[in-house]
Amino acid sequence: MTDLERRQDRSPVPSGWDYAPAPEARDIVTLEERYGLYVGGDLVEPRSGEYFPTLDPSREEPLAEVAQAGKEDVDLAVRAARDAFENGWSDISPAERAKYLFRIARILQERSREFAVLESLNGGKPIRESRDVDLPLSAAHFFYYAGWADKLEYAFPHRRPKPIGVAGQIIPWNFPLLMLAWKVAPALAAGNTVVLKPAETTPLSALLFADVLRQAELPPGVVNIITGDGSTGAELVKNEGVDKIAFTGSTEVGKAIQRELAGTGKKLTLELGGKAANIIFDDAALDQAVEGIVNGIYFNQGHVCCAGSRLLVQESIYEPVIEKLKQRLRTLRVGDPLDKNTDVGAINSKQQLDKIKELVASGEEEGAEIYQPPCRLPEKGYWFVPTVFTNVAQSYRIAQEEIFGPVLSVLTFRTPDEAVEKANNTPYGLSAGVWTEKGSRILSIAQRLRAGVIWANTYNRFDPTSPFGGYKESGFGREGGLHGLEPYLELDDSETRGG
Ligand code: NDP
Repeated sequence: MTDLERRQDRSPVPSGWDYAPAPEARDIVTLEERYGLYVGGDLVEPRSGEYFPTLDPSREEPLAEVAQAGKEDVDLAVRAARDAFENGWSDISPAERAKYLFRIARILQERSREFAVLESLNGGKPIRESRDVDLPLSAAHFFYYAGWADKLEYAFPHRRPKPIGVAGQIIPWNFPLLMLAWKVAPALAAGNTVVLKPAETTPLSALLFADVLRQAELPPGVVNIITGDGSTGAELVKNEGVDKIAFTGSTEVGKAIQRELAGTGKKLTLELGGKAANIIFDDAALDQAVEGIVNGIYFNQGHVCCAGSRLLVQESIYEPVIEKLKQRLRTLRVGDPLDKNTDVGAINSKQQLDKIKELVASGEEEGAEIYQPPCRLPEKGYWFVPTVFTNVAQSYRIAQEEIFGPVLSVLTFRTPDEAVEKANNTPYGLSAGVWTEKGSRILSIAQRLRAGVIWANTYNRFDPTSPFGGYKESGFGREGGLHGLEPYLELDDSETRGG
């Protein structure tokens, strides 16, 4: 045997198309050991004196400590925002306001790798998504609203648009920076100041954003960022110095906020949960539809309010669709969020993982059939295998409740009428998808679906120019587009009423 033959004998034989690890370097992010609150243009220690750790959910390791803002801290932040509103920000020229928004957009682009790594570290989402979706869209929101800042008179002709004052904004953990951009950009473009509360589990990108604000030389107090748990959010809602609340999160908390604000005169927009139907007709391009199903529910681990979590398949194509879907699921790579090959990252928190497990167990108990592809999960961290339930009845909890995880419930239908009826059979009304070759069918189905956003032959596409929001228990008010400016403006209706 020659030397070469001997060496080949010892070298590992590839067992298939495996991917070598492709980790993104994490040293582009410099973390502080401890973060204060961003109030009046400075990071300050919380008056509460309390801090809590924030984790990397893929390793269950602490990343840093962040401040727990109490009532006094919320007060200080609101006062800083009021002061900035009354002493400068609401009076500067709109073109000047636009300048700051353009600067923020450009800095986000310049620092996008740093932000993408931090977003994946703190939230568990795959770097491919934070890099290619969260960051470009966040910058695009600031660019888009920068363009409107000096054109409000044209956006709302004869309605004398004026800013409202101080906006209190409460955001969730599924798209931390993107939800910040959705809220902060239109508020500033309209001339308001802001107190923002990021979610307890994902505060770090908002705190890094404070550094972007300093770099952009935004006047102190125009944006204030207070970290904390739900009690901080509740204090912000109650605070009398706040003129408007914008909330994205669970329907339960949204309802509590609505009750709290009833009769106070404060403006409110709510972007809450969803249980979207993704409807596949028998004339759809099946391979594209299967990609759309996968993108609809496994994108961001299913932590998406508009996720296509209920798949409605026309009966005649049920078998090929399920077969193709299972095949595709076997190719999804679950694991390290910072690996550029990862499709499905970590579940955001233990609490969310427990909720997913509980709902999945209820699906099995109620009689649905579960499919999970073979998948080796990392030993530490919060993980859940991409899951499909077939044999699902409309009454099952997995067909009714928002799971907010990588779990799909499949139902079938025979006629377009049945599809519409089943799609609308939910307390929610945020989004839906329709897959068919026929343009006329898309239009007729879309008109009958009670959902704020409807995608045709695609899913989970976002654009700053396009309004987003729901009906029924998915909330009210729109974010994005021209509609997204309205909740941040006082508009004079006397002329449109003929006064
Ligand atoms: P929450 O609605 O509790 O959280 C959203 C935001 O509101 C967070 O910043 C949270 O703070 C804050 N908050 C919590 N309680 C209050 C309160 N009483 N007053 C004001 N603000 C408050 O969602 P969870 O994180 O608890 O997730 C629970 C479920 O909600 C998920 O399983 C999912 O089904 C759904 N959800 C839906 C989202 C959507 O976009 N539709 C987004 C997030 C969750 P903190 O994080 O500190 O608790």
